[in-house]
Amino acid sequence: MNLINETHDPALHSWVASANAAGCDFPVQNLPFASFRRQGSSEPFRGGVAIGDQIVDLAAVAAAGLFTGEASVAAQAGAQPQLNALMALGQPAWSALRLALSRALRAGAPEQAALRACLVPQAEAEYGLPARIGDYTDFYTSVHHATNIGKLFRPDNPLLPNYKWVPIGYHGRASSIGVSGQAFRRPQGQTFVPGATEPSFGPSQKLDIELELGIFIGSGNALGEPVPITEAEEHVFGLCLLNDWSARDLQAWEYQPLGPFLSKNFATTISPWIVTLEALAPYRVAFLRPESDPQPLPYLDSAANRQAGSLDIQLEVLLQTPAMRAQGQGGAPLVRTSYRHAYWTVAQMVTHHTVNGCNLQPGDLFGSGTLSGPTLDQAGALIELTSGGKNPVTLANGEVRSWLEDGDAVVIRGWCEQPGAARIGFGACVGTVLPARG
Ligand code: CA
Repeated sequence: MNLINETHDPALHSWVASANAAGCDFPVQNLPFASFRRQGSSEPFRGGVAIGDQIVDLAAVAAAGLFTGEASVAAQAGAQPQLNALMALGQPAWSALRLALSRALRAGAPEQAALRACLVPQAEAEYGLPARIGDYTDFYTSVHHATNIGKLFRPDNPLLPNYKWVPIGYHGRASSIGVSGQAFRRPQGQTFVPGATEPSFGPSQKLDIELELGIFIGSGNALGEPVPITEAEEHVFGLCLLNDWSARDLQAWEYQPLGPFLSKNFATTISPWIVTLEALAPYRVAFLRPESDPQPLPYLDSAANRQAGSLDIQLEVLLQTPAMRAQGQGGAPLVRTSYRHAYWTVAQMVTHHTVNGCNLQPGDLFGSGTLSGPTLDQAGALIELTSGGKNPVTLANGEVRSWLEDGDAVVIRGWCEQPGAARIGFGACVGTVLPARG
């Protein structure tokens, strides 16, 4: 487990002035990774690290030979178009690069002049997927979401008996994962209206969001070699924001007996920036299970997981309708919650996923599952906020929504703040719904 070290010191300031501004997502204590290039250029994508409103170009850092030792090896791996090679190097290498960048970006650092030449403004950048994602697994770790959804589908039996014992998940689709800015066509498919004699085909009428975090695997494990919970976090590179778009009408008809299929695999949007677990160290909180609930089986339990296995990440969803966009208005707040309410931790997800011998590989992605909080106004999906579409939400400008409409853009933001620690953020995850194919 990452410990607090000199890179987290809230007193640190950077010679990149924008990194010191109040409310900045990317102060010197954060240092998240992305894959980027200059907009509209034919430059190769390469790894970058956010600092204020700038990006440290890892290809330029590697070419300039600014770092030595393990940090130099990590910078060279990070110079590739996607971050898989850096992820594969393992936690000590990520940590060495973070420390070298932290020291070189601090006010008064002797590397300032050389490193300034490696900066690219974020305003001039476009982003690619941070990793080549071999496999994508979507979990279901919010007991509040599972209960809210269960009530809609099975009023008498909302939470299935396995939920409090097994971190539930299913294998998703990697090919349709896109980076923030993704626009996708409203999916078409089969739906079945209760009372009808047969299903109908057409554009989904119940298009929804799912507020999630993405978890990128760093170093993998060999096939047949489970990862014990005491080592699970060493395999996690970092976290991003994730919107698991969902067609609820397709889902209701297709999901039994094998789970979601076409209702989920048409698009998944992630934020470009991956915030490392090390950066999140100051925001750890205890993993709490009500005493009346089953406690995790021994393979899913450790002292460290109990004491500090959860993360207090603040999450927010905003919805920008076409009318708001036409009037120059940003998105209207839809929901606020925290990742701390999850029923299973990141370490438990990694351990459970591998306990049967399944091998994880660098760049694999987990979805946390919809992160609904304990009260309905903290629900991370419209299906919960609107009680299955029956109670539309009224947005700040008076517009109402039961489900997403064409042209709607959804913005997810995440950040951490706590007394005695620097505020850090995840940037934004933005996706837009286009009309169905004609
Ligand atoms: Ca999901």
